[in-house]
Amino acid sequence: MRRIFVAGNWKMNKTVEESVALAKELKAALGHNPPCDVAVAPTYVAIYPVAQALEGSPVIVAAQNTFWKESGAYTSQVSPQLLKAAGASWVIVGHSETRGRFGVEEKVENEDALKVFGDNDASVNAKAKFAIAAGMGVIVACGELLSERQAGTTDAVVSAQIEGALKGIPASDVKDLVIAYEPVWAIGTGEVCAADEADRVCGVIRDTVKKLYDDATGESVRIQYGGSVKADNAKELLGKPNIDGALVGGASLKVADFMGIINNA
Ligand code: PEP
Repeated sequence: MRRIFVAGNWKMNKTVEESVALAKELKAALGHNPPCDVAVAPTYVAIYPVAQALEGSPVIVAAQNTFWKESGAYTSQVSPQLLKAAGASWVIVGHSETRGRFGVEEKVENEDALKVFGDNDASVNAKAKFAIAAGMGVIVACGELLSERQAGTTDAVVSAQIEGALKGIPASDVKDLVIAYEPVWAIGTGEVCAADEADRVCGVIRDTVKKLYDDATGESVRIQYGGSVKADNAKELLGKPNIDGALVGGASLKVADFMGIINNA
């Protein structure tokens, strides 16, 4: 039995003060016995105060990214150990936006600037491995661009991302992983993937894990769908056999909207 896991990715949307206020409001609304696992991923600078505000609450604090070394001369990077010390116990790795793959086109004067979003399957793998070794829960995100879907390569793209991300990670760790299937064209666009199709691709991901490991590992891994999840589409999505939760962007920024999703779990 896989427990539903709903995670809110606050991205770069809230100041420290706003993040703490949102966390407190969520804590009050959720109470002590939520119907599913619930996480929020504030921006790095708000992790510590949000974790403090959520003390005594079942809400999990997650980070939006991490690095593959504990400490050292890595300007701007944040290790799993630093995240844990700040109060985060989970981390998202390989979100399409850290891979430079955006649902809503990112316009810059010089395309070279986009190289700042430099994640690839190898870096996602290194981050996932190191975060697991540090004792964090990990959400590995994957998903195809619209052009890849139109070219009929969705399954191949997603399977390759998962194979790359899991390289060298033993089954004993993979079974506790969460994978987020997030079609890039559905992120922040209001265009949700049809529930049957989202379920089908989540099934492809589960089969990929089974092929790489074994049936039991594939059956225990939790797979979230992400991409314009809202209260009114959550019920159908979360009711699908291969969808074990949601990774939520925009609708996690208002407690009423986020609770609407959680209450459908
Ligand atoms: C996300 O970025 O993980 C996401 C799913 O965003 P949204 O819900 O806003 O589409």
